[in-house]
Amino acid sequence: MKKVKYLILGAGPSALSFAHRLLEHGEDSFLLLEKEKEGGGLCRSIEIDGSPLDIGGGHFLDIRKKEVLRLLFKFMPEEEWNLFDRISTIKVKNNEIDYPFESSIWQLPIEEQEEYLYSIARAGCNLGLPMPEKFKEWIYWKLGDKIAEDYMIPYNNKVQSIDLDRLGTYWLYKLPNVSFKETLSSCLNKKQCGTIPAHAQFLYPKKYGYGEVWRRMSENLDNRIITNTTINKIDFDELIVNDSFKGEIIINTIPWTEFKTRIGMPDQVIKLINDLEYSSIDVTYYDENEQTNAHWTYIPDERISHHRILYRHNFCSNSRGYWTETNSKRSVLLDLKWKYTNKYAYPLNTIAKPESISKILEWSKSKNVVGLGRWGEWEHMNSDVAVEKGIQLADKIYL
Ligand SMILES: Cc1cc2nc3c(=O)[nH]c(=O)nc-3n(C[C@H](O)[C@H](O)[C@H](O)COP(=O)(O)OP(=O)(O)OC[C@H]3O[C@@H](n4cnc5c(N)ncnc54)[C@H](O)[C@@H]3O)c2cc1C
Repeated sequence: MKKVKYLILGAGPSALSFAHRLLEHGEDSFLLLEKEKEGGGLCRSIEIDGSPLDIGGGHFLDIRKKEVLRLLFKFMPEEEWNLFDRISTIKVKNNEIDYPFESSIWQLPIEEQEEYLYSIARAGCNLGLPMPEKFKEWIYWKLGDKIAEDYMIPYNNKVQSIDLDRLGTYWLYKLPNVSFKETLSSCLNKKQCGTIPAHAQFLYPKKYGYGEVWRRMSENLDNRIITNTTINKIDFDELIVNDSFKGEIIINTIPWTEFKTRIGMPDQVIKLINDLEYSSIDVTYYDENEQTNAHWTYIPDERISHHRILYRHNFCSNSRGYWTETNSKRSVLLDLKWKYTNKYAYPLNTIAKPESISKILEWSKSKNVVGLGRWGEWEHMNSDVAVEKGIQLADKIYL
């Protein structure tokens, strides 16, 4: 039996950041267990057609969190990254406009602008109606019928691929919040207006894929990480995993649904875990270049299976080609292109989720098992947030 103070399950960004922050605090009694052959989780890259490709989909590092950059630059210094101003577009019917939609209506033909503006003016939020609790109703309430039906509903039908009425609204602070006044002003002034979306400026490695920084972080842990080890059993009373590894505290960053055997977990907590939902995303590579200066494009058209295109040739030096992201439920079976399926891609923000995950986390914490990161907290977070959470958890213990 291998015994450590902190047994860390998974080696994605949240686990790696927690581990490195422990080292910064002088703590080295920990071990990471990872099922893949290397760390990095959804942020890993491989080489395809002579250049890196990010197998978890399009991955870009937001620059706003200085403490996150400080930690990551220790492994991949700032000069190894290119800084980009985000160019992302939405293809809607026969037009292509910038993201976010509400700030870019001014780029459409004037008759279309009139229709969108008229529709937003009659949206519930502008009529003083209360905010609904279901996502689909919220879309109509916030953006009006026309943006809802031309863009938000078809796009979300594709990316989420579940009944949108089953999703809540508690996570919508992540979406751009552009007021009607700002949309109007952007149309009159013919320029973007309103809040800046995430990744307005982002970093991407000059010579590598996004996975390189996490690969280096893993490598730096030497024998404190064990790869090719799938966790399927946990004993909550003894804090033992796979009958072989024991921690005084377990930090869980893998999906709670991955534990096939859970000793000491009450049936009601098992039921809450079984109710957690996720979606899977297929990443497919195409070797042609597209005529665009965008880094990526959103595709709401439901006749097309993928919902996003990432133009590798526009952010990855000396590369060609692009890749697409498609919800696995919509993936075309006979596609002969290179394809990678991310089984766990998005934790789904169902109406019941906040209560379920908070009860799971409360119970597990009482057993000294702490949930961390995208799957440990079952929250749709970007990698900069996962890193920040890893740092903060270690700081909470040691500061
Ligand atoms: C399509 C898509 C696009 C994204 N774009 C961006 C972006 O542009 N910018 C950004 O910052 N973030 C982006 N993200 C989010 C980013 O991928 C996550 O925030 C980040 O990977 C979360 O890190 P984590 O360590 O919490 O989880 P993960 O990266 O999922 O790591 C979990 C780890 O646990 C391991 N594991 C799972 N099951 C087991 C098991 N049974 N036994 C052992 N190990 C196991 C996995 O192999 C993995 O290494 C995107 C995500 C997706 C799906």
